[in-house]
Amino acid sequence: MAQPLAREVAVEVAKQHGVCIRPVPLKRLDIHTGTWDVVDVPCGATLEATCPPCAKRNRQLRMAQCREGWHLDQEPVITPDEPNDEQRWLIEFRADIQAQHDQAVSKGEDTADQDAIITELDGEINEAGMRGNVLSRTTAKRNRSTRRRQDAPNLPKRAMTATTLGRTFTSSDGKTYRPSLFLTLTLPSYGKIRNGVPVDPASYDYARAARDALHFSKLVDRFVQNLRRVAGYDVQYFAAVEPQKRLAPHLHMAIRGTLPRAEIKQIAAATYHQVWWPPAETAAFDGDHLPIWEDGVGYLNPATGEVLPTWEQALDQTAEPLHVSRFGVQVDVQGVLAGTPDADQCIRYLSKYLTKSIADSLDPDDQAQKDHAARMTEALRFEPCSPTCPNWLRYGVQPKGAKPGMMPGRCRSKAHKPDHLGYAGRRVLVSRKWSNKTLTEHKQDRRTWVLEALGQNDQPPDPHRYVWKPVPAGDANVAPLAVRLLRSVAERQRWRTHMAQLQAQADSQDLSATDGLAGAA
Ligand SMILES: [Zn+2]
Ligand SMILES: [Zn+2]
Repeated sequence: MAQPLAREVAVEVAKQHGVCIRPVPLKRLDIHTGTWDVVDVPCGATLEATCPPCAKRNRQLRMAQCREGWHLDQEPVITPDEPNDEQRWLIEFRADIQAQHDQAVSKGEDTADQDAIITELDGEINEAGMRGNVLSRTTAKRNRSTRRRQDAPNLPKRAMTATTLGRTFTSSDGKTYRPSLFLTLTLPSYGKIRNGVPVDPASYDYARAARDALHFSKLVDRFVQNLRRVAGYDVQYFAAVEPQKRLAPHLHMAIRGTLPRAEIKQIAAATYHQVWWPPAETAAFDGDHLPIWEDGVGYLNPATGEVLPTWEQALDQTAEPLHVSRFGVQVDVQGVLAGTPDADQCIRYLSKYLTKSIADSLDPDDQAQKDHAARMTEALRFEPCSPTCPNWLRYGVQPKGAKPGMMPGRCRSKAHKPDHLGYAGRRVLVSRKWSNKTLTEHKQDRRTWVLEALGQNDQPPDPHRYVWKPVPAGDANVAPLAVRLLRSVAERQRWRTHMAQLQAQADSQDLSATDGLAGAA
């Protein structure tokens, strides 16, 4: 009885101190000393931030990153760095999971867990400042027939100049202005909405809403492509995907440089994304009548024994897009000048929802909203979320990479979950040349700042010093969570006291350097 209580208290204390409450234990070998120990890595530094203290810290880092890149007046220098610790362990971890995955495949076991981790890790690997994918492409890219090519929208096209910076304007008194843009893009209407819920749920187009949410990040990609063609320079952006009250994702985007408002609206109106997937309108298999797996063959029609078309075969027969998504007519464009309160407000706005999931905008006491969310989840249940989605079996197609045990309606991808409501992509989208730094480097900046304040030398870590390994579940070397949390809290307290002393000294010397303190703490 006492133990769970102690754990709850420890979690509360940890939260108050901004300490990660879901630390990931990792085994670390120090090559210099030859010793193994178990180190807690904050959850926010590894997989997607899930615990509130990590989410908060990541939000502060994102704000710093957004501020830094928005009004750059010099081209960012992009040079690949030596891999750092975090990158190294991500790759190590990725390799381990891949090995587990391959082992499971060879035993014919379910790999949904590993698949989910791999997808997430690949995102994290890119996020950690490494480009590309660990497994380089092994098969040639599909050659789509020309009729399936995405048509180029009818937009003006300027000659490309090799810059990421926006134009400047000089006033008659010689002052230089560097205006940038803040814009908001929404999806179209699916039916009349009042107080965040459909007036008439029966006629509300949930199917369309579901598909638009599933393919939203692709639509954003298209918008950026078009934006760059029209602008004639390598436009950089920092964007956040957020939920609207009606539970559709929408996008806030800080853009470096400026374009006429009318052009932005024209680009948004002309942008669309075609989803070239096989038809998924009518269920071919349903209830107990489901395709059956045969080893070495694939999925068969249970009635006729015929082999279902593979993903590739089905794609070859696809003559029209399954879905075409577009933005809605509501496009908000705002001009913003560097260093103004407007700019600060936009940055806060951009990071406002980052700690929340898409479904977090739901009011838990609002039954109408809960019903609306439930209908949206239902609409997503049998909607294929990706080429590998088991839902394809429902429409008579073997999912890409088909394996035994797949069942329509049982996809483990985030896209189908009530927390995500179709949008499983990244919440923050930052172009590569936004600032000179990746999020990892921004983290490193804070660390350096703090260590300098503490009078310690922040030696660049020896990238080859540590070897990381995941800790198997139930490993006896991992202390109970409550103990680990309280340890971190004690460490944090010691450190805070030290910082407070330094701050007092700095104040008395009238050397205030408060910026960065709050975030680093
Ligand atoms: Zn955490
Ligand atoms: Zn799925």
